[in-house]
Amino acid sequence: MLRSVVSVRAACFALALSVPELVHAQRAPAPDVDPRIQKLVAAVSEQRLRELDTKLVSFGTRQTLSDATSTARGIGAARQWIHDELKRSSARLQVSFDTHQIAQQGRIFRDVELRNVMAILPGRSARRIYITGHYDSVNLGRGGQTALNAGTGTAIQSPADAANNEAPGANDDGSGTVLTMELARVFAESGIEFDATLVFMCWAGEEQGLIGSMAHAQKMAAEKVVVDANFNNDIIGNSVGGNGQIDGKSVRIYSLGPEDNMSRSLARYIERVAAVYVPSHRIRLMAREDRFGRGSDHSSFTANGFPAVVFREANENFARQHSAEDKLEGVDFRYLAQNARVNAASAAALALAPSAPKVTNERGAVLLTRNPSGYDANLSWAAVPGAVSYRVYWRDTWNNSWERSQVVGNITQSVLPGLSIDDWVFGVSAIGADGNESLVSAYVSQVRTMNPVRIAR
Ligand SMILES: [Zn+2]
Repeated sequence: MLRSVVSVRAACFALALSVPELVHAQRAPAPDVDPRIQKLVAAVSEQRLRELDTKLVSFGTRQTLSDATSTARGIGAARQWIHDELKRSSARLQVSFDTHQIAQQGRIFRDVELRNVMAILPGRSARRIYITGHYDSVNLGRGGQTALNAGTGTAIQSPADAANNEAPGANDDGSGTVLTMELARVFAESGIEFDATLVFMCWAGEEQGLIGSMAHAQKMAAEKVVVDANFNNDIIGNSVGGNGQIDGKSVRIYSLGPEDNMSRSLARYIERVAAVYVPSHRIRLMAREDRFGRGSDHSSFTANGFPAVVFREANENFARQHSAEDKLEGVDFRYLAQNARVNAASAAALALAPSAPKVTNERGAVLLTRNPSGYDANLSWAAVPGAVSYRVYWRDTWNNSWERSQVVGNITQSVLPGLSIDDWVFGVSAIGADGNESLVSAYVSQVRTMNPVRIAR
């Protein structure tokens, strides 16, 4: 776990010590944690998560096409409160509506002004890390998601009537919304100067087909904004499954493959950092985009070329989802707080670290050769601003998790003699002066495009 962090810290520390102390320091286990991140993680409040979700549920419904004019019920009142609450929580946050005029399409049964609610915490660089959840809710009628799963769901009334039905959405996705809001407060109030810019976003239109996140992500792609990660959270607060399974100590993280893209790198990163800062919580990495037949806003990011994952609770209760039964009693706030801490630790470490190294040249060719012997692994990468060292990783091609690594110093080329590039997967990360490490960029061989063979007549 984070051995590079250990060795870099130990080396910096050792310079200031006398010889006997140096010997002692080398023997003593070096700290594995960044105390600033520890403090930030400890600031996550279970009580505030409960208070925020209680208020969210009080709007009755947050359906994207519900009445937006009432100040007490519906999506208009809910989004205004989220906006104002984010503003109240820290003067360092730049809070605004991310507004899109959406035309009638699919489950959007009329043109609608859709508003995501956004809080930006500016960093030293413009590259962005998102923490997100969708604040809209939905009531699909009798049986909710259970009926849909069984194929027996019945549409309720007209779509317009359905839009104003009771849809408390305490867990779907009140849980992800209040997690996002609480982390906005915790990050802004930490006083930490992050390298990356953090964006805390509460989406609308998720239940109509990821509309709000897609409108935003496609705009970011068109404007060539650099997005390093999206930590999306959707249905993340229930610890009692509909099947009777109880689990408040693990969380599932889904990420779209293939196995060495940056979404998978992000998933591995969260597992590694969570083990340091939230050791009692188990991370279960899922090598697929999402659960069967279900989706969320992380897919709007991957569809636009941005790394993203979605956090999902360990055991779901389908009977509560997308119905009037998605109430506060179905949310375990102690469990939700633990999932918030996993998000907090890994997003903070990533936002403090340099960018991941680029391991391809301008033409997209991977910077990996067999030089000098013809049977070595020779890795090159582009220097990263802010990096003081790099760490090289490798693993068996059939394994999904990195097996071995070494810190190689402040260089941009490293040779592993006698290791066949055909038999191992290689990667490299950048380490900043404070010991925080970037995502790992993997050296991926390009997929060969095959043309059909022309057959002579
Ligand atoms: Zn949802």
